[in-house]
Amino acid sequence: MPGYSNKPEDDLYHKLEWVMFLRVAFTSLLLGSTIILQFSEKPYPLTGPLLVFYGLIITIFLLSLCYGLIFKHIKRKLIFAYLQIGIDTFAVTIIIFLTGSFASIFSFLYLLVIIYSSMLLFRKGSMIMAVLCSVQYGILINLEYYGIINPFSMNGDNSIGSYDWSQVFFKVVITMGACFAVAFLSGFLSEQLRRTRDKLSALEDRIKRVEKMAYMGEMAAGITHEIKNPLASLSGSIQILRKEIPYDPEQDKLMQIVLRETDRLSALVNNFLLFAKPSPGQIEKIELESALTETVKLFEKDKACTGKVTITSDFFSNIWIEMDPVHLRQVIWNLIVNAVEAIEGEGRVGIKTSPLKHNFVGIEISDNGCGIKDQYMQSIFDPFFTTKSNGTGLGLSIVHSILESYDTWLDVESKVDRGTKFSFKLKRRDPPT
Ligand code: ADP
Ligand code: MG
Repeated sequence: MPGYSNKPEDDLYHKLEWVMFLRVAFTSLLLGSTIILQFSEKPYPLTGPLLVFYGLIITIFLLSLCYGLIFKHIKRKLIFAYLQIGIDTFAVTIIIFLTGSFASIFSFLYLLVIIYSSMLLFRKGSMIMAVLCSVQYGILINLEYYGIINPFSMNGDNSIGSYDWSQVFFKVVITMGACFAVAFLSGFLSEQLRRTRDKLSALEDRIKRVEKMAYMGEMAAGITHEIKNPLASLSGSIQILRKEIPYDPEQDKLMQIVLRETDRLSALVNNFLLFAKPSPGQIEKIELESALTETVKLFEKDKACTGKVTITSDFFSNIWIEMDPVHLRQVIWNLIVNAVEAIEGEGRVGIKTSPLKHNFVGIEISDNGCGIKDQYMQSIFDPFFTTKSNGTGLGLSIVHSILESYDTWLDVESKVDRGTKFSFKLKRRDPPT
């Protein structure tokens, strides 16, 4: 379904702004606590780890400034987000290294990064970040264990040498496991959230459509009666005049025009009423095959265009539904008219029914006509939207509002120059006994 195309991009944009803001806040906190630590009772000299720590804080501030400056100009926000969060995992590794590597209490920061990466990048992103964190942590602890690097230690004493291999292994495995567990869980949750939001957004589109129709319906109901009555008197008067006054070919032609146009107007008004206020309908049990066959026959008799267009039917027998037969005919009729009108020259229109899951039946009307352009897809159900020079733009609106009253809706698939398929489903019923 079209309709909510660029929302995810906007969403990422806002979340990324938040992450950038919170990163600066967190770094400021880090700066504050480091300063306090440095000037606490037993002042730390400004050497070794503290110096590197200040360096890291300044680097993060500078990076944040860069992010802020280029943020608006970057088109591919997704890659930008991956990059930022990837750098964050690296910063966390440095923080862990500076606070004692193996003994550091800051390994939980990995989990924090993974959690917010899942909010921005969903399951895939959180898994990638979990891999990044695990690899970095593994390398860091290994390097330390084999004495290749010596961690800064603020307390000095608990170096990795005092632990045996199994303890080190255990902690690394636990940390990695936690990374993946958190990535899995938060990824799962955010994926679910995203799916729910997508569904909600589709529903919102549908509701908007219905609301628009309802509003139009109210307006229409008021105004159409005001039009119908004068129209009736107009055409009645002309008919009387035509009989009364002596025949004059010139005048007769004019009167015929008036009559033809009033007919056209009243057909339009009637159609509009149909869309705006579909009659409540006489619900009956209908056998689909015979009802559809009858409508197709009627259509072929009524319209001359079927010389070039072949209508093929493919109906399952003995499928029953409950609907007003007039409504069903109206729906099918409008869809066939559109299908035939979409075909220039020779072509084919197919009508098909098929049983679906959960006791539904699907009805499909397809053509190999001109197709519907993407930019029109949003509007084809709007009343008065038409791309035809003599169209009214009411056909699909009527179909839509009739189907809406049966709690179902039209689906449409279309490819320009290839054709279009309209389909909807109805609840199946038991045959009458
Ligand atoms: P109208 O037929 O009077 O134009 P509709 O509401 O029936 O009004 O259709 C609205 C528009 O949707 C049409 O003008 C056409 O552009 C498009 N459309 C509907 N059905 C088809 C189809 N089967 N193939 C191509 N375009 C279609
Ligand atoms: Mg039409």
